[in-house]
Amino acid sequence: SLSERFQAAFKKLRGKGKLSEEDITEALKEMRRALLEADVNFTVTKDFIKKVREKAVGEEIFGSLNASQTVIKIVRDELAELLGGTQSRIAIAPKPPTIIMLVGLQGAGKTTTAAKLAKKLKAQGKSPIMVAGDVYRPAAITQLQVLGKELDIPVYTEEGSTDPVQIAENAIPYAVGHLRDVVIIDTAGRLHINETLMDELIHIKEEVHPHEILLVVDAMTGQDAVTAASAFDGALGIDGMIMTKLDGDARGGAALSIKAVTGKPIKFIGVSEKLDGLEEFHPNRYASRILDLGDVETIIEKAQAAFDEESMANMKQTMKSGTFTFDDFLTQLHMIKKMGNVGSIMSLIPGIGKYKKELDKVDMDGKELKHIEAIITSMTAQERSSGNPKMLIKDSRKRRIAKGSGTRVQDVNRLIKQFTEMQKMMKQAKKAQQKRRGFIPRL
Ligand code: GDP
Ligand code: MG
Repeated sequence: SLSERFQAAFKKLRGKGKLSEEDITEALKEMRRALLEADVNFTVTKDFIKKVREKAVGEEIFGSLNASQTVIKIVRDELAELLGGTQSRIAIAPKPPTIIMLVGLQGAGKTTTAAKLAKKLKAQGKSPIMVAGDVYRPAAITQLQVLGKELDIPVYTEEGSTDPVQIAENAIPYAVGHLRDVVIIDTAGRLHINETLMDELIHIKEEVHPHEILLVVDAMTGQDAVTAASAFDGALGIDGMIMTKLDGDARGGAALSIKAVTGKPIKFIGVSEKLDGLEEFHPNRYASRILDLGDVETIIEKAQAAFDEESMANMKQTMKSGTFTFDDFLTQLHMIKKMGNVGSIMSLIPGIGKYKKELDKVDMDGKELKHIEAIITSMTAQERSSGNPKMLIKDSRKRRIAKGSGTRVQDVNRLIKQFTEMQKMMKQAKKAQQKRRGFIPRL
């Protein structure tokens, strides 16, 4: 993957101590190859490498001791630049309702994203309504209605109507009348861009004057996503993009080229099929993720959305200090469970990429969590807070805990093993954080 390739290039640099100009040239060549293989646009790649080289030369890093650190920082900053620099939010109309129109090719994720966005806005205190503007497939309307029901968010439809322009137009006074302050219009897509599709979208745009026209693009389609973005922007004019399916094994190149090619920012990214799988897009964080420098900010935010301040403070402390006890383990398992998919959360932790195997080991279902809870609460306070699994090495202790929790000694053993893996990861996270100290905003 792109991540692994960059990691490999950095590792070589780190191993060198002082760097010569050839070392940099060699590393840049590797990065260039990695970007191209990840399906990043050729011109974009060329510019990127050129900028990194210029900056590296400008910093006079050759022969200096922290050269590899400086190069990593330069690469990270340039990646963030490439991804749009600073975060781009959606425009909220001073006078409600805010009208958001989602456009894109068929299958890009418009309908799902409409629901995800509505859910997000609702959680932020807004009162969204979704509009079913894809009238060509009855299933598309039903899909939106089902999602609306699940989220308890109204969906505006017109039975029997085949005129999406009219529907969108009528939806606005309806929204105002029902005190909805955000209108999210789902539109039809086509397999390919054509005039009929564009004409329809342009009509809707002219009638309802959306505050945001967001193009939904599928990251898995690579360069095609970039081509589609240019076409939509040229014909319709878009305000930004939502890139979906970044959880898949997309090579990631589309995200890296699309801003540079279209000049329009990515505003959100889709990271799972589930309705909570939409994140605001932060170029700097995403750059850190690509480089596996970790994205602690996003973990904290996800947690913040799900937890009270006290458990947050504890989690921050744990991640900062690197000490990790059985109590922390339990708290974390609870938090992670509540936040969603274990793997996707853990993958945001710096340096965690190579621990994929261990990660799968700690992934567990609700039943196992109950077991673990029982085992940990059967430990003495000292055992729980020690952070030293060796304390439990004696069979008599294990037997006592197993008995107290109604489990077996092998369950206790398994828990100790999982704990030890998790502790190892936390230490790793801590080390990675120390390494990048000084150039990545800390907690
Ligand atoms: P539309 O034709 O543009 O409205 O696309 P849909 O919203 O119907 O989505 C097409 C498919 O992509 C559905 O199966 C969605 O579940 C899936 N999908 C959408 N966004 C994401 C995402 O961020 N991650 C993943 N894994 N799947 C997604
Ligand atoms: Mg749809």
